[in-house]
Formats: sequence, C-alpha cells, structure tokens
Amino acid sequence: MKVYADNAATTKMSKAAIESMLPYFDEVYGNPSSLYSEGQKAKEVLTSAREKIASLLGCEPREITFTSGGSEADNQAIVSGARLGARKGKKHIISTKIEHHAVLHTLQSLEKEGFEVTLLDVKPDGIVDTQELKNAIREDTCLVTVMYANNEIGTIQPIKEIGAICKEKGILFHTDAVQAVGHIKINVKEENIDMLSLSAHKFHGPKGIGVLYADKKIPLSNIIYGGAQERGKRAGTENVPSIVGMKTALEEALLNVEENSRYILKLRDRLIEGLGKIPHSILNGDAQKRLPSNVNFCFEGIEGESLLLLLDDKGISASSGSACTSGSLDPSHVLLAIGRPHEIAHGSLRLSLSEQTTEQEVEYIIKSVIEVVEYLRSISPVWRDLVTGKNKFILK
Ligand SMILES: *Cc1c(COP(=O)(O)O)cnc(C)c1O
Repeated sequence: MKVYADNAATTKMSKAAIESMLPYFDEVYGNPSSLYSEGQKAKEVLTSAREKIASLLGCEPREITFTSGGSEADNQAIVSGARLGARKGKKHIISTKIEHHAVLHTLQSLEKEGFEVTLLDVKPDGIVDTQELKNAIREDTCLVTVMYANNEIGTIQPIKEIGAICKEKGILFHTDAVQAVGHIKINVKEENIDMLSLSAHKFHGPKGIGVLYADKKIPLSNIIYGGAQERGKRAGTENVPSIVGMKTALEEALLNVEENSRYILKLRDRLIEGLGKIPHSILNGDAQKRLPSNVNFCFEGIEGESLLLLLDDKGISASSGSACTSGSLDPSHVLLAIGRPHEIAHGSLRLSLSEQTTEQEVEYIIKSVIEVVEYLRSISPVWRDLVTGKNKFILK
C-alpha cells in the first residue's frame, strides 16, 4: 500500500488547479506589463485572481502581494516591519521559539543588523502564553510575529487575541499562516492581523507561489528590486499560471473546508488513539488546539530517521522533525521548546493527513508504526538498557 502522510511538507496538486493553469502557458502567455492585448489579457487574469484571493482572506485586492512562496512572504513581512520600526527608533521584535526557519533565520539576520529579538517560550502544550507576550512588549517593540499553526506539531495559536494585544499597543502583527490557510477559515481583519504569509503548495496548489497580505497602511519594503510589478513592492514578471493555480486551489479548499476538516479530524483522532497505545510514547502538542491533519508523536528508545526509512519500505511517506531539520543531527527546535529532552525529541514522527487520506490508510499506518517501533526497539541497545532498568524510562 502507498500512503502519503506528509501533507505538511507539501500536497498533491488538485486536478482543478492544474487544469486552470494550462491556458496560461501557451494560450494567454503575454506579459501582464505589456500594453498590447495579449499582455492585457494576462493582466486581467492577474487582477481577478488578486480580487478572488483578497475576498477569501477578507481584505482588499491592493493588500495582496504575490511572492515566490511562504518563505519569501515571511522574509518580506518581517524585514518590512523591522525597517518601519527602525525609522522610529524602535528595534525590538517579539516572536516564538517554535517558528519556521523562514521566520527564525530572518530574525537572526536582523539581529546582526542591530535589532533585538525576544523569542517567547511556549507552554508544554505548544501554545503561546499571551500574558508572557504582554510582559515581553517594550517601548521600542516594533513587530510581533507568531505563526498561526505550527508545521511540526500542528498547534494553533490564539491569533485573534495576540492581534488584539498588538493593536492596542500600536505594534505591527505578522503571522506565518502557511500551515493554516486553506485548512482553517481565516479573516485577516476580524483576527487583527496586519500581515500574513501563505503558500499555495500547502493547500493543493503549485509550488513556488505564495502571498503576502499586508494592511494598506503598511508601506512594504522591497527585498527583491527591479521592475514596478506588485505596485513596486516585488519586482519580477508575475507567475501568471501559478497565481491562477493558487487561486483555484484556495477557492476549492475553502469551499469544502468545514466538511474536509470534520472528516480529517476523525482520522487524526483515530491515529492518535491507535499510536497512543504504544508504550512509552507521547503525543506532541495540545490534543485539541491543533490542525485537523496533524499527528506528532515521540517514541522512547527510537531513532526518528530509522523509523522513517522502515515506514518508507512499507510505502508510507511521513516525516520526523521538519523537512529543513532532517538531514541535520540537531533535534527539532519545536520539540525542544515544548520540553522534550534531546533523546526523546530524536524519536519523533509527524504524520500529516489530507482529505484524500482514507480510513484503511490510517489503519495501515497504525499497524505499520506499531510493527516498526517494536522491531526497532527489539534491536536497540538503548531500549535494552531501559528494559533491564540500567537507565530510567522518561516516557510512561
Ligand atoms: C512550508 C512552510 C513555509 C515555507 O513555505 P514555502 O512556500 O515552501 O517557501 C513557511 N512557514 C511554514 C509554517 C511552512 O509550513
């Protein structure tokens, strides 16, 4: 059986999204900046995609900037917030320890330029403590950036409340909503969001295309200079086919969002129940305040990489830590932030489902993970030391 359970890494494109793109490769292929009719046709398509996406997010079309994906949108949002702050002498930024590297590494580069960054801890359930956020706010805080939903453990943050805190203090608020858009209904204005990043390939759209929503009061800074596309804020000929594909995928995802999440949530909870029966295991992140698609466990005495390889042999695609961290020996910064010790964090497994996942697939995953964990433990010297009492178990 082939089971794709890594939808937080990327998703299979929807047929409707693929089909909607096709005419814009060889029929309407003009450059939207060209004045002749072939260019103007492309421009019209761009305009209508922008309008549609804006209406789906609850903002105005001019507040939508097309980018090359979630990473670029995160970079531009944070750099913009920082530069605006610096002009007023405010150089303090607040974020969290569980952000995606697109946020964390942007913040690190700003620190080298003299900005001060406070990274909030999260509670053991993976949720930000809003009182701690309030306490961290200073006179010179210019930007707060907190992700909507975590890519590893799926926890959903109290975004509206965080936005309200920032609004009251006159601080810009950005959220990396790459894991949330298309999976949860979001209205940027109602949720007090000043800037939001999204990426099409996380909701069955094409890779390499995304959006930065920024409230019209925010003068975005460029991070890519050149032509006057995107009101001069993001140079480069627009990726018309991908923008159309993103629009189609988002419309489709949101049209069915409630029905899909009810369905996926049932599968998720079945997985959590099934895998929770494995002795000396623990669910990472709050059991309820998490994406309907996300399951993340740690298994004591197991190496995450070996688990993945053996699951791959059984046809299951899953992940351990995030795609960006795998390949390095460091355990996930997110699992460390929720208090998992190194040796436990190393034995993690993330399964991320979609509406295409079936009940049979979920049962197959449960059976396979149980088998593989048992096998790996049976050959592990670390496990032997735990069983013989030489070392103490950390997980119950
Ligand atoms: C995937 C992801 C990104 C990066 O998006 P790309 O479009 O792949 O650049 C950023 N943040 C989060 C939370 C993600 O899951």
